[in-house]
Amino acid sequence: MLDKQEAKKRIDDLVEQLRTLGHAYYVLDDPIVPDATYDQYLNELRELEEEYPDLVSAHSPTQRVGAEPLEGFQKVQHAIPMLSLSNVFNEEDIRNFHRQVTDVIGEDVTYVCELKIDGLAISLIYEDGAFVQGATRGDGTTGEDITSNLRTIHSLPLKIDAEGTLEVRGEAFMPRASFLSLNEAREEQEEALFANPRNAAAGSLRQLDPKIAASRNLDVFLFGYGEWEQENLPTHGERLNYLESLGFKVNSHWKECSTVEEIISFIEEWTTKRAELPYDIDGIVIKVNRLASQEELGFRANNPRFATAYKFPAEEAVTTLQDVELSVGRTGVVTPTAVLEPVLIDGSTVQRATLHNADQIKELDVRIGDTVVLKKAGDIIPKIVRVVEEMRTGDEEPYTMPTNCPACKEELVHLEDEVALRCINPDCPAQLQEKLIHFVSRNAMNIDGLGEKVIQQLYVEELVQTISDLYHLKKEDILPLERMGEKSASNLIAAISDSKDNSLEKLVFGLGIRHIGAKAATILAKRFKTMDALKDATFEKLIEIDEVGEIMADAVVQYFEADQINQLIDDLKDAGVNMTYDGPAEPENTNHFLSGKTVVLTGKMDHFTRKEAQSKIEALGGSVTGSVSSNTDLVVAGESAGSKYERAVDLDILIWNEEQFLDSVGE
Ligand code: NAD
Repeated sequence: MLDKQEAKKRIDDLVEQLRTLGHAYYVLDDPIVPDATYDQYLNELRELEEEYPDLVSAHSPTQRVGAEPLEGFQKVQHAIPMLSLSNVFNEEDIRNFHRQVTDVIGEDVTYVCELKIDGLAISLIYEDGAFVQGATRGDGTTGEDITSNLRTIHSLPLKIDAEGTLEVRGEAFMPRASFLSLNEAREEQEEALFANPRNAAAGSLRQLDPKIAASRNLDVFLFGYGEWEQENLPTHGERLNYLESLGFKVNSHWKECSTVEEIISFIEEWTTKRAELPYDIDGIVIKVNRLASQEELGFRANNPRFATAYKFPAEEAVTTLQDVELSVGRTGVVTPTAVLEPVLIDGSTVQRATLHNADQIKELDVRIGDTVVLKKAGDIIPKIVRVVEEMRTGDEEPYTMPTNCPACKEELVHLEDEVALRCINPDCPAQLQEKLIHFVSRNAMNIDGLGEKVIQQLYVEELVQTISDLYHLKKEDILPLERMGEKSASNLIAAISDSKDNSLEKLVFGLGIRHIGAKAATILAKRFKTMDALKDATFEKLIEIDEVGEIMADAVVQYFEADQINQLIDDLKDAGVNMTYDGPAEPENTNHFLSGKTVVLTGKMDHFTRKEAQSKIEALGGSVTGSVSSNTDLVVAGESAGSKYERAVDLDILIWNEEQFLDSVGE
């Protein structure tokens, strides 16, 4: 917990940062950080202010809604303030909200759950049925008169059948399709793009020229009311029906829920279904249904006690880069990884993100101490998409990749125009450990019980320095290792011994020859039958095989040229490791290279759509998967290929450009 002085400093910083972020969002319609980040800072501020109420200043963003109205518009005083909503993020928060409600009005409560439309709040005033004024929320008390812009929205009725003064409230928004075509057109005109449909809607309605709003295909949903002289309905649900009967566009996906469980299942349903909607929603609003109960519950400074908004987990988050760590792969590629202040994205805590290589660090201009935006775009490993430069304090330290290997200190090199930095020291301990990890992995020698930790210990204790040392291990050698019991030691020795009988392809793959994945290893083992024959295979002999191209053939020849490798093979032979192919015989007809291959397509191709390329590969007996792993045989990289390409480089997977792909499929 912070003491009062620290709290004051943090509060001052947060108020200042939120002011900058709020201005960009509310006034400029051009947010700097994802909403979840803004909410995170706001919640932190709220908690600190609750602890130290005398530190709350009048200009704290917790004390107000939105932002001052823009100059240039007539100002509108709201007869009843237009407030914001408190936020809930998980089941526990929802249960707390329910408890706070029932503490005041008792157990007999029903709620209406509605979709939280991601647009901007509007107020519409009707006098004796005629639409006379439309306004933004502004700072909650004073909004902007945007009547002429709102009049351009076709779904907004200009005349309804009601007497007296009626104020309805709702959300103006831009459907996704309109947003996409608007941004496309702006891109063509080389105009700045809108960050999201919400900002595009706000930007469109806050134009002084109504023709612009008219061209933007906006829409509205109405869900609330301000001044209301007319009917006397008892529940919010009935008011929604009434609004609809008057001709207002009311979102039909609302539901009455009487338990927290029902609320949660409504949330779960829309967490999945939201992607199918033609407009964006950012959460679910939960409102007490009985209007008398709403009144009893009343309001806080800037939000009601009778309603709250559940916010969907964010796919983007902001955090700080604490450090960059380097790892050396089995082929010597040095990969930087971002070490981050832990942050929640899409429901899971993230502490690391891949940075791929030095070029990416340079491109992002990311520095230690920087505030960064992380995105989890369907991938398991999140990536840093950009730096929030506005949050720089000047204390950030640029990061430069080292010139020497972090493990063996030998100088690092760039090979054949590769982006990646490599350590080419054959005795590099990090590479040797990674080679061992690869050798024992499932598709290779498949030795159970030899995880990364055990390998690390075996290496550090100098029990295993090369692959062949594994086959000389004795039970008494490994018993002293951490968490190694009698039983696991016996099992491990037995697993190592069993692996000696593996068919040749497992050994060939396990050796980790560049460009030779599990499938290629099988092809080679089938064709040459013994290790000796493979070792003696010439480049010409190798490229005779349909599935083996020049790069692979070259890699095999080069690999077996090294004395060290010949020594290794002899040692393995002496240890009793099988050197022959025992698998099924090669089918008579030699298939196409792509047959049996696992292929990943990335980037844009000129001659094929993704679907067409996939059909081609499948027709030739290959399969297409979405992500690059050690099981991938080939990556076909079109124009502007990104992270998949980089991962393929890291994993030493064969990469083709579109031309090579066209050649192979015979087009
Ligand atoms: P809010 O968006 O959390 O919720 C209140 C609003 O929800 C209401 O005003 C209403 O217009 C809207 N709403 C949509 N559907 C509704 C429904 N069915 N029933 C009732 N209300 C509904 O709060 P806010 O005060 O409008 O704005 C804060 C939002 O702006 C947050 O999401 C915040 O993250 C974002 N923000 C982001 C930044 C940034 O830098 N990214 C800065 C400031 C604010």
